[in-house]
Amino acid sequence: MQFAATYPLAQIRRVQIYNNIKRYRETELDKILQETGGSFVFGGPIFLSDLSACCHLKGDGVVYGAPDYQVWGMAWGADAQDYAMERLPCEADNYVECVALVVEGEPLAAPHYQPDMGGRRPRQAIGTKEGRFAYLVTQTPYTPEELRDVLAAAGWDSAVMLDGGGSVCYRDRAGNGFVCDADRVIPYYLVVHLADDVSEPDTTGGQYVVTAQSGLNIRKGPGTSFDKLGGYSYGAVVAVQAVRDGWGQTDRGWVSMDYLWPVEAADEGLVTDTGLRIIQEFLPAGADNRPGGSNPDTYITIHETGNFAKGADAAAHAAYLRSSSAQAAPVSWHYTVDDHSIYQHLPDCERAYHAGDGGSGPGNATSIGIEICVDSGGNFEQAKSNAASLVRLLMAKHGIQLGHVVQHNHWNGKDCPKTIRATAGAWEAFLALCGGQGFPQDTDQELKAAVDALAAAGIIDSPERWMALDFTANSVRLLLIKMGRYVTH
Ligand SMILES: [Zn+2]
Repeated sequence: MQFAATYPLAQIRRVQIYNNIKRYRETELDKILQETGGSFVFGGPIFLSDLSACCHLKGDGVVYGAPDYQVWGMAWGADAQDYAMERLPCEADNYVECVALVVEGEPLAAPHYQPDMGGRRPRQAIGTKEGRFAYLVTQTPYTPEELRDVLAAAGWDSAVMLDGGGSVCYRDRAGNGFVCDADRVIPYYLVVHLADDVSEPDTTGGQYVVTAQSGLNIRKGPGTSFDKLGGYSYGAVVAVQAVRDGWGQTDRGWVSMDYLWPVEAADEGLVTDTGLRIIQEFLPAGADNRPGGSNPDTYITIHETGNFAKGADAAAHAAYLRSSSAQAAPVSWHYTVDDHSIYQHLPDCERAYHAGDGGSGPGNATSIGIEICVDSGGNFEQAKSNAASLVRLLMAKHGIQLGHVVQHNHWNGKDCPKTIRATAGAWEAFLALCGGQGFPQDTDQELKAAVDALAAAGIIDSPERWMALDFTANSVRLLLIKMGRYVTH
């Protein structure tokens, strides 16, 4: 379950640092809302075992925490109309810090936090998005780095992670919410007071990504009492037409908005032209199967997993790559694709151990490795089609030619991708898919001339990428934004 929204500052009456001297537990947040008249409340920054603040913290002019360092945090005055990221401590009546993740529009390469703040756990964060107040409170476990990437992809231009794990909790006036530790007393909560005329958060129609690991049910109506009509898989991109009471309507039925995360233009590099979103689960830095180094991304190497077991899908291989046996081998590659998802395990710009031609062989050092799942019960044709959509995206992103899309066999003679190699015409058919069959942009000279003209005028950059798009609603939106910026500057 997660709660996230952004509000124009004009719709924010007050952002309150609630000093919990009454020692309300996470299960008693409704009492805080009653007492303060706030619209919703969630957990605050980290604290010591004696319930004292250990970060910079100030509420209504009272300093609760004053450590001996300067740091980025969120600061605001009495009515929050100047809410913004500042260096702390500062003169503002209110401020909070914990772990800065995004500063001045830039995701921090290495967010600074104590080891006990790391790992995958429920998270909460506040910040800004295009000048609006933004918050996220989620039970989805993220590392601080993953949270940073999620927020940056969602368009947040500043973000501060608050306390995580058992301190994550949320409650609004309608009674929606959750707790991560029912017994926990949090010394400082954040209470947001919306202006009276605001009742609906700004979650409207648009493109969303499914964040439920086990998939998202599609129902006949807006509620769990309605019959199931089917499901969307984890990572799928869903077009929501309207939102009512926390339920979104799609062309297939109704889905809970709790398991959807908005796709922003910044996400475009992570969504294939077939609408499949890449799930990034990078191997830990320093793992024996993450050698690092630089990869010029001149080739794409196609593999098959060779694992025909039921359930040996992309998620299973993502888990395998994190195992001690994968690290000991060492073995790694960049992407695994099955019939419903794409997992990315390493950044494209790093080397991996997949081509069997040595640590600095051209297969491992200059190519992006893609494993296609052959699990029984999976639809191999769909998996190949999904892999081809990933290849198209990577070709456009890195300027890789179709002639540089090669089999694992190319590097060390191994019989891989085995099923494709064993089927007459299958490799040629796969390359045809990668070439963008059904996407005639390569021969569309009129479009190419237009894209080149837009690039020359400075309205768009990377014309190759624009040529490779299939012009979804999202890409049209992005182009309109770019053209709007161009004519107003
Ligand atoms: Zn292989």
